[in-house]
Amino acid sequence: MLRNHFETEHNLFRDAFRSFLDKEVVPHQEEWEDAGVVDRSVWRKAGEMGFLLPWAEEEYGGTGLKDFRYEQIMCEELAAINEPGFMIPLHSALCGPYIAEYGNAEQKARWLPGIIRGESILAVAMTEPSAGSDLAGMRTTAVDKGDHFVLNGSKVFISNGLLADLVIVAAKTDPNNKHAMGLFVVERGMEGFERGRNLKKLGMKSQDTAELFFNNVKVPKENLLGDAKGGFFYLMNMLAQERLTNACGAVAGAEAALNATVDYVKERKAFDRPVAHFQNTRFKLAEMRTQIDVAQVFTDRCVMDHNQKKLTPEVAAEAKLFTTELLCKVVDEGVQLHGGWGYMWEYPICKMYANARIQRIFAGTSEIMKEIISRGMKL
Ligand SMILES: Cc1cc2nc3c(=O)[nH]c(=O)nc-3n(C[C@H](O)[C@H](O)[C@H](O)COP(=O)(O)OP(=O)(O)OC[C@H]3O[C@@H](n4cnc5c(N)ncnc54)[C@H](O)[C@@H]3O)c2cc1C
Repeated sequence: MLRNHFETEHNLFRDAFRSFLDKEVVPHQEEWEDAGVVDRSVWRKAGEMGFLLPWAEEEYGGTGLKDFRYEQIMCEELAAINEPGFMIPLHSALCGPYIAEYGNAEQKARWLPGIIRGESILAVAMTEPSAGSDLAGMRTTAVDKGDHFVLNGSKVFISNGLLADLVIVAAKTDPNNKHAMGLFVVERGMEGFERGRNLKKLGMKSQDTAELFFNNVKVPKENLLGDAKGGFFYLMNMLAQERLTNACGAVAGAEAALNATVDYVKERKAFDRPVAHFQNTRFKLAEMRTQIDVAQVFTDRCVMDHNQKKLTPEVAAEAKLFTTELLCKVVDEGVQLHGGWGYMWEYPICKMYANARIQRIFAGTSEIMKEIISRGMKL
């Protein structure tokens, strides 16, 4: 189905981003997968090309493109090449906005230029070993000591956990109020800030996911974003954009999985005919085609609503729920239609299957999405 919300400048941006990926990412994907982390240099290259935080103001080195369609294009192109480790969306559309939105002028001037140049890689640390969906249950604390806070606790499953130079850490600031938390920018090298091992995962092999430890880390007051008790609200506020990002990548991932499967079933023969000729195959692929088209229209509409600041957390949750469930269904059917070859790592559908599974879990599980949506229905 033809999409109608992109203009010429978006198409040009997509061409430029795709060429960048072809040159700087695709040739390194296997090497990064083996290393469990992408090479730092690719972040700088992306920065040089203007692909990091393109929405940021020119005074910090951005291009002022406040149009989520550019973020959508990057999510789509990364999904199309099935690159899970080079998480521009995490850096640009999830973490960067915390600094732009809740940082003061001094903080923005201090951090944004390096972030935009790809010299300071970002991560956000909310999840803890005993608290994921229930963020208010986190145990990391930040105690006010006058000119600084002292941070204690640990975080787990942090994307960019090893590469990150600046980590936005959520920590409790009032023992009598479980929703009182602050967002603290913890910098590489701060005393008491340690990183654990690169966690071994089902998929997303090129992405460094790590545990982080904070033992009496002295964080200067200048590194607190916004209000020391407002962090919970800030997180909730930003999660809608994060979920839209997931949706953009999930539909594109489903499209890529469908294309890989269509190519395969046309070539593969069984019982003297291409697998594509079996009615079961055609019907399965037709169902996927239909569902992806429907999901794409909905996602594109969410992007345009978001551009007008009209996307509600409930609709963002619907987008994440629907598209990530669809992605997982499509990759599963895709593997099935590949037969045994679909289970082999050398086939793209196998990696797509492994990479997709987390989409229904991170940035809020499907069950949490249903909670948000049903709350909006006053149930
Ligand atoms: C690869 C990877 C990358 C990640 N990156 C980051 C990151 O960069 N930063 C970060 O902070 N976190 C990150 N996470 C963490 C992720 O967001 C959490 O894993 C996720 O939010 C779920 O939390 P949990 O794992 O504690 O599961 P739990 O909250 O323990 O959930 C377990 C099960 O209980 C269900 N459940 C929980 N509450 C309810 C409820 N109220 N109603 C119904 N069912 C419920 C869940 O849906 C789930 O099925 C990442 C995780 C992974 C695996």
